[in-house]
Amino acid sequence: MNIPLIKAAIKKAKMSPFYAKHFESIESEDINSVEDFKSLPFTEKEDLRAAYPLGLGAVSEEAIVRIHSSSGTTGTPVIIPYTRKDVEDWTVMFCRCYETAGLTRKDRIHITPGYGLWTAGIGFQLGAELLGAMAIPMGPGNTDKQIKMMMDMRSTVLCATSSYALLLAEEIERRGVKDKICLNKAIIGSERWGEKMRHRIAQELGVELYDIYGLTEIYGPGIGISCPYNCGMHIWTDYLYYEIVNPRTGETVNPGDSGELVITTLLKEGAPLIRYRTHDLTRELLGPCPCNSPFPRIDSIIGRSDDMVKVKGAIIYPCRVDECLATIPDVSSEYQIQIDHLNGKDILNLLFETPIEDKQIRKNVEKIVEQTFKETVGITPHPIAVSIGELPRSEKKSTRIFDNRY
Ligand code: ZN
Repeated sequence: MNIPLIKAAIKKAKMSPFYAKHFESIESEDINSVEDFKSLPFTEKEDLRAAYPLGLGAVSEEAIVRIHSSSGTTGTPVIIPYTRKDVEDWTVMFCRCYETAGLTRKDRIHITPGYGLWTAGIGFQLGAELLGAMAIPMGPGNTDKQIKMMMDMRSTVLCATSSYALLLAEEIERRGVKDKICLNKAIIGSERWGEKMRHRIAQELGVELYDIYGLTEIYGPGIGISCPYNCGMHIWTDYLYYEIVNPRTGETVNPGDSGELVITTLLKEGAPLIRYRTHDLTRELLGPCPCNSPFPRIDSIIGRSDDMVKVKGAIIYPCRVDECLATIPDVSSEYQIQIDHLNGKDILNLLFETPIEDKQIRKNVEKIVEQTFKETVGITPHPIAVSIGELPRSEKKSTRIFDNRY
């Protein structure tokens, strides 16, 4: 940990109305060790909401050149102000992401994330322009136009969410135009996505995949990316300091153990954040990467700390359940977990969909689900097979785990 940099970051943060209050009794001069730093309170997304609209601003309003906002699907949005230097720093980090993925100025970068208050699209654009590549600022939607431009402009790199990349891949396949597509790489936003989906996108588009990481509160996408060795994401620690903590206790986990990613901005001016809880679950990958990058790595995001539950001493992450069910024939991707407490014992009911209607065959499928779940997730579930379409569907992220114990 670079103590002078941390001190400066705390000092800067305290210029904002939010941190002036949050760190009221804390002086940057008193932070002289990692232990001192770990005694600082976390910053939560709720805190940022409460600072709406510009309570996070740590500079005079004239110094703010732009704002972005995280999606306000639940309650008040969060507004993040940026200075000119923040925008430049973000651009440099994004360009570094492209370089790490092996892009050059010869590339034509097809950008499908949205532009606007949300940070995604414009970050991809700025990084492309700094690299000197050709940005094709599509934004989302209009699949016809996406595919036409992709063919006519000979796009070489696709930037997209995993679900949109899959949709485009399927559409390209369906139209039989794969030989007119020049893509060789895809840079995919860091939402959680299973190996099955990954494989399909890579296969159908014929591309190498890179995972890019970021969140609006901390610049936006582009604060880290996987390299050609595809073993975790390098994080730009010259701009950020990160910790992995136990999401329940807030204590630092042992090196290499899974936990929640907590980020401190080292150089941000507009809205510095100290010990910001991302709620993204990951782990640090220890040791050097074969690519020789000096930047440390975190594993791909395995879920959100808000989604995980502990049952009979085992921690259950939705992604592990996805992975487990994906390996079993005659089981759809839809499932629901109901955790109950009966007669002093925790019980995990696992409802899953199957096209099988025959009662006896269903019993066999349940048996296989029970065994596979026990082997991969670590505890024995009570499996309940239901017909396709019986479990609720949602256009947004659906809730799959219900904890009825408390
Ligand atoms: Zn690497």
